[in-house]
Amino acid sequence: MSFDKEKEQLLMALDLARIGFYDWDVIGNLIYFNTYMLQDWGIENNPPTTLQDAVSSIHPEDQERVSQLVNDALEQRVPYATEYRVLRPDGSIAWMEVKGIVRFNENNSPVRFFGTCINITERKEKAKLLEESEAMIRTFADTMPQMAFIADPTGAITYFNKRWYDYVSTEGTEGWGWKDQPIHHPDDLERTIAIWKDCLATGTPYETDYRLRRHDGQYRWHLGRALPHRNKDGEIIRWCGTNTDIHEERMAFERNRILFDFGVALSRGLSIQEISESILVEGKKILQNIAGLVIVKEEDSFSISAKMNIPDEYTNDKAFFDRVIRLPAKSALFESKNFFLGTQEELLTEFPDYESALKHINAKALVALPLRLQGKAIASVAYFLGEEVQFSTELQRFFESLATQAAVAIDRAMLYEKQLVQKNELEVALSARDEFFSIASHELKTPLTSMRINGQLLLRNHARDPLSLTSEKALNFIKQNDKGVSRLVRLVDDMLDISRIQTGRLPLRPETFDLFELMKDVLSRAAATTEAKLTLTPAAAIYGLWDKLRLEQVLTNLLSNAIRYGNGNPVQAEIRVRSSTVLITIQDSGIGIPDELIHSIFNRYERGPSGDVHGLGLGLYITKQIVESHSGKIWVESQVGLGSTFFVELPHQLK
Ligand code: ADP
Repeated sequence: MSFDKEKEQLLMALDLARIGFYDWDVIGNLIYFNTYMLQDWGIENNPPTTLQDAVSSIHPEDQERVSQLVNDALEQRVPYATEYRVLRPDGSIAWMEVKGIVRFNENNSPVRFFGTCINITERKEKAKLLEESEAMIRTFADTMPQMAFIADPTGAITYFNKRWYDYVSTEGTEGWGWKDQPIHHPDDLERTIAIWKDCLATGTPYETDYRLRRHDGQYRWHLGRALPHRNKDGEIIRWCGTNTDIHEERMAFERNRILFDFGVALSRGLSIQEISESILVEGKKILQNIAGLVIVKEEDSFSISAKMNIPDEYTNDKAFFDRVIRLPAKSALFESKNFFLGTQEELLTEFPDYESALKHINAKALVALPLRLQGKAIASVAYFLGEEVQFSTELQRFFESLATQAAVAIDRAMLYEKQLVQKNELEVALSARDEFFSIASHELKTPLTSMRINGQLLLRNHARDPLSLTSEKALNFIKQNDKGVSRLVRLVDDMLDISRIQTGRLPLRPETFDLFELMKDVLSRAAATTEAKLTLTPAAAIYGLWDKLRLEQVLTNLLSNAIRYGNGNPVQAEIRVRSSTVLITIQDSGIGIPDELIHSIFNRYERGPSGDVHGLGLGLYITKQIVESHSGKIWVESQVGLGSTFFVELPHQLK
């Protein structure tokens, strides 16, 4: 086959393959385009003859650049390969990928420049479309409110949208990985990794919720979802996912749950302390880093019923504790006002004097609430927060509901504790009464038994020999029994007095008499029953308006006690006149009274360590009631083993 023939076939093949071919005779400036190229450029009716003809078909915006490239190829022998647009005579534009080779002669002058030209319009358009759609997807991803991400099939994240960077901050995201720098809450991390790995392995859609750390350190709840993207063969090529902020909804749900749990927890507590502790523990579930304090109102003051996370150094440093820790709770209680101080600045504006102290405990925010019942504050709670908090109306309302529940629980506990005290008092009273009954029956039985024996002896004597029963013998029996009767009468009188006092009926019959004279009588009567020396000073009449019989009872009781518990030592009585009162003193040197009983011996049925002295524990109680019904006072000073001095101070007249 001749060379020309071969060339012709080659050119036909190129036409068939839709490949343009050009050949430029540089010296003669004659250019040749194969048929396909002419058709592709739309110039088959007007084929170019010179390079300039050819260049003029190129898009005007590309002409200069292409001419320059041709020059570079001719002069600097730079390989020629480029893309440019052709402006067809019908106005349409086509993209070409053009390559060329330059042949030089022995003088190094270019002689031929030939190469191929392929229409790449379709490819270009596809690429453009792809670029546009990618740009669109990115814009779309950047405008969506969720954080979006793309991960490769291994789970490594290859793309984050702008929201991510806004949320996490750029530094936080660089190098972010599941393990090195997790932005998941530590409590959620492991569970999330397990779910994600399982989805990667099985290809099931990923959906879970967790807390993600925001650039300012706050953890917010998110719903994470991702779907696998598969190729035609069904292989996963990437995962596309989103994180939707569900914090507020979640918190509202959480708060309702907490309120419920709170109610349940509080209902389990019985005492004020238990309930106060629950208030703090439950509060901690919604607030991070808290310290807290609950105080409860008492009659005119208040007491701390629970505290949490307050270091000992603060509790021990009373001044500091009083000023800083207790102050907000106290203010809430006494001013019945809510304190929602979300920033350190607000905190300092409200409590300006405590700047250094509040900084010292690192309190950045505070909630202090009165626990009100029917508008009245009965207690208060203060939560100190280590982080600043934005107290939305919703959050404030939540705390108020919490406070209402707490108030109801505390009120219930107060009632419960009161009932408990009453129950204890009742139990004490009942057991004292039981003990009294057993002592009283014993006390009553003793004289009765001896009287009965006396009577039986008398009868037996009389039966044996009626004449042997002389009147002297009989008188002796009668005298002895009379003693028993007196003792019984005294006991019964005391018991009657008790029931009178009990029912508020201890009638007084005032008369004017000489107290000194009365004391003298009582002493002389008592002298008959004891060996102990009894003295009375000074000797002077003291007239006043009192109930004589009742005061006689007082003096008799005190004196007989001084004798009974006096170890047989002398007893001194004294009556002094003061400006508006009379002071009676009865002093013994007997067994004395232990300090812890100094007040209680005046209570009903109360008895001290009394040796073998019998008694009902009623004398001093009745004495005190009589003295007080005279608007007087009674007290005792005593030392164990050294003796006791009882004092009775009476106004000159009964009021
Ligand atoms: P009683 O003497 O019948 O037990 P009181 O009411 O008169 O009842 O006294 C109560 C208690 O006070 C006595 O049991 C005794 O322990 C103590 N007491 C009273 N007077 C004296 C006293 N002068 N010295 C020591 N203890 C006394």
